[in-house]
Amino acid sequence: MPEYVSTRDPQAAPHTFSEVVLDGLAADGGLYVPTSHARLDYQDLRGLLGIEYIDLFTDIFGTFVGDDIAQSTQADLARQAYHSNKFPNAQHGNIAPLTEVGADFYVQDLSGGPTAAFKDMAMQPLGGYTSYLLEQLDREILIVGATTGDTGPAAEAAFKGMARTKLIMLSPQEGMSDFQKAQMGELSGGNIVNLAVDGTFDDCQDLVKLIKEDPELGKLVGNVNSINWARIAAQVPYYFSGYLQAVGKNVGQEVDFVVPTGNFGNILAGYMAREMGLPIRRLIAAANENDVVHSLIQTGEYVRPDQKYETSSPSMDITVASNFERLLYDLLDKDPVKTAAFMRSFKQTRVAKLSDFGVSASALRDVQFDSGRSTHQDRLGSIIWANQNKPGFTIDPHTADAVTIGRAKREKGVPIVCLSTAKPVKFEPTLQEALGYTPVREERFVRVGQDPNNGFIRVSTDPETLKQRIHNLVS
Ligand SMILES: *Cc1c(COP(=O)(O)O)cnc(C)c1O
Repeated sequence: MPEYVSTRDPQAAPHTFSEVVLDGLAADGGLYVPTSHARLDYQDLRGLLGIEYIDLFTDIFGTFVGDDIAQSTQADLARQAYHSNKFPNAQHGNIAPLTEVGADFYVQDLSGGPTAAFKDMAMQPLGGYTSYLLEQLDREILIVGATTGDTGPAAEAAFKGMARTKLIMLSPQEGMSDFQKAQMGELSGGNIVNLAVDGTFDDCQDLVKLIKEDPELGKLVGNVNSINWARIAAQVPYYFSGYLQAVGKNVGQEVDFVVPTGNFGNILAGYMAREMGLPIRRLIAAANENDVVHSLIQTGEYVRPDQKYETSSPSMDITVASNFERLLYDLLDKDPVKTAAFMRSFKQTRVAKLSDFGVSASALRDVQFDSGRSTHQDRLGSIIWANQNKPGFTIDPHTADAVTIGRAKREKGVPIVCLSTAKPVKFEPTLQEALGYTPVREERFVRVGQDPNNGFIRVSTDPETLKQRIHNLVS
C-alpha cells in the first residue's frame, strides 16, 4: 500500500492516497511524496510494449493509488478521463503519440485533450478521482484558483459536472487571450463559476489566499494545482509511453527527454518515471527568459528574481518552481528538517544554495538533470525548423522552447523526445509571426474565441464582497 509523507514533517506521519488527493498541500506547507514506489525491470517494460495508453495509465498510475480504490473502478476512471470525446487520439489507442522531426529526434504530443494543453493529461483523471473519493467519504469540495492561461480551462474541463465539487476561477479582466477566455466562458454554469476580477493576476492570487484562510470557506477548499501529487502521478505514464515508442524493440536503450518547464511538475514526473526504472538518461529542462530552473540546475542555487518577464511562452513565466521541493527532499536524503530550512531560506531571502546544505553545487547535473534557456527568437526559429523538417507540422511556442534546447543538446545515437505541452491554436499570433500564416484549426476549435467575454461575472477586488458571494454560491 503506497504511503505518503510531507517533505517538511519531522514526524513523517503517513497519509493515504485519498488524503493526498483531497488535501493537495500538506498542513505544514510541505508537499506530499510517496515513501516507496514500484520498480519495473526489463521484462516488465517489455510487457508494456504495444499496450493501449489507457491500460498503461491504469497500470502505472495504479501503483500510486494502491487498494484504496478497486482495480475495476480505477480502470473505469481512466476510461472516462481519456474518453475519445475529449481526446480524439484515443480512437487509435495512443493518446500521446510521437512525431519524428529528425533522425532520432521526436516530439511527443501531450496536448490532444479538450483544452489543447498538456494539463488535461493530469487534470482529467484528477477530476474523476476527486469526485469518486468525495462520494465515498460523503464530502464536498470547493476549488478556488487564479489563472492567466492553461490551468483554468483544463481544471474547468475536468471538473465540469463532477458531483460534489464546485469550482470558482478568478482571472484578471485583462491578460488572457480571447481563445483562453472563451474556453473558460463556455464552461460556465452548473458547478463552474468564472469571475473576471477588476485587477491584476496578483490581485487574483491574493484573493484566493484570503478565501483559503477564511475559517469557514477554508475548510471546504482543495488544491488542484500542480503541487497535488495526483497530478504528478498522472503524468508519469506518458513518459513510459513516449519511451517505448522511441525505442521500439530496443527496450533498455537510454533516451533523453526535454521538458518545457515552469513549476517543475512535468519534469518531476519524468524523474519519478526514471526512479521507477524507465531508462531515461538525461532529463533536460527547457526554460524561457524566466530561467530560474535553468540556473538552479547549472549552479545549484535557487534564486527568486524580482522580476518576471512576459514572454511568448507564458505558461513558463514563473519565479518559483514549487515542485522542485520534491526533488530537493531526495537530494537532502529525505531529511524534512533540512528541506524545511532550505525552503525557509528561499522564502525569506529569495536565495537558497545546495552547497549550504551539505550537497554539491553540481548535484542536479550529477543525477543527470540538464537545462537550457531559449528566447523569443529561438522559439520562432524552432517553429520554422520543425515545420521545414516535417512539412505541415506545427508546434506551439512552449514546445518550441523544448525543441530549441533539444536541438542544442542532442547526441548521436541517443533518441531524444521533446514534450509538446500545448497546441498552436492557443498561440496563433506567434505562429503567424514565425510562419507567416496561421495553421488551420482542428474542427473542434474552429469557433472558439468568438465571444471571449461571455460567461464571466465581473467582480471588484474587495475581499468582503467576494467572500459573501462565494458563501452564497456554496450554501
Ligand atoms: C503548465 C505548462 C508548462 C509548465 O509545466 P510545469 O509542470 O509547471 O513545469 C509548460 N507548457 C505549458 C503549455 C503549460 O501549460
